[in-house]
Amino acid sequence: MTSGVIVTILGTAQDGGIPQAGCSCNRCKDAHNDLKMRKFPVSLGIQGNDGSKHIIEVTKNLSEQLMFWTPEHNDIFIPETVSVTHLHLGHIEGMGQFGKPVMGLKDLDVYLTQSNKDIIDNRSDTKLMIEEGNIITHSVEFGKSFEPKEGCGFSLEFIPIPHRSELGDTAGILIKGKKRKILFLPDQDSWNETLNYYSKKNIREFLKMLEIDEAFVDGTFWSMDELPGRDIKKIPHPTIEETIERLGAKRNEDPNISFLHLNHSNPVNDIDSAQRKIIENNGWKISKRGDEFEI
Ligand SMILES: [Zn+2]
Ligand SMILES: [Zn+2]
Ligand SMILES: [Zn+2]
Repeated sequence: MTSGVIVTILGTAQDGGIPQAGCSCNRCKDAHNDLKMRKFPVSLGIQGNDGSKHIIEVTKNLSEQLMFWTPEHNDIFIPETVSVTHLHLGHIEGMGQFGKPVMGLKDLDVYLTQSNKDIIDNRSDTKLMIEEGNIITHSVEFGKSFEPKEGCGFSLEFIPIPHRSELGDTAGILIKGKKRKILFLPDQDSWNETLNYYSKKNIREFLKMLEIDEAFVDGTFWSMDELPGRDIKKIPHPTIEETIERLGAKRNEDPNISFLHLNHSNPVNDIDSAQRKIIENNGWKISKRGDEFEI
């Protein structure tokens, strides 16, 4: 039996996307020359079993992503609700598109943590959109699940995640349908801090506690070699290399884990890279735009 709730990956890159502004690395140059090589910042689309449309994260590529989301990539879906994990630029950069100069939406529901709502409510650009009736912000309590729209057939739950909090705070989002449960965790500072916060010894225990079937996790960097001369302690992301080391190979009872939020410097972006093979040989995955999950 189908649940009728479909989660679609609309973007897999870190905040800057690929090509990243100001970058002349080969990966970015290739993406300038061949539009198919472009990668959009991380975002998810969720279609409810009532046909309603919901997105998580609003990126600078919102326009392309809303079209890519449709079955034949030839129509445009308009979201009815938006949820945002945190306020770093790449996760909210498209927010202005909902306002008068572009889409001019009416009463779009935007779900945020309380401290992020306080910031968005008082930022001059988003404040204007609230006053003009384009968006309505709602604060979400950590650990409390809610339906973004009544009768949509799935629920969301924000969970606190340690991540640079110079702009509000950061959530991971649990997406629960009748059949399956997804963890969306695009940004975190380190596994140590996240696992300590939840008093869990390892990633498996953490995912088991949350009853996760599919986890989309922070894969910003493959290793610190990508950023020579930078102090590892100042890079607030666990590397994929470390995550794989912690997990080892996938076991039968494990949830599926895929990596997203890939930085342009990450060799995993290259389809035939040795690093990508290491992930796959261990039974894990790299998220791809267009991946669909029925939950
Ligand atoms: Zn990010
Ligand atoms: Zn680059
Ligand atoms: Zn971030």
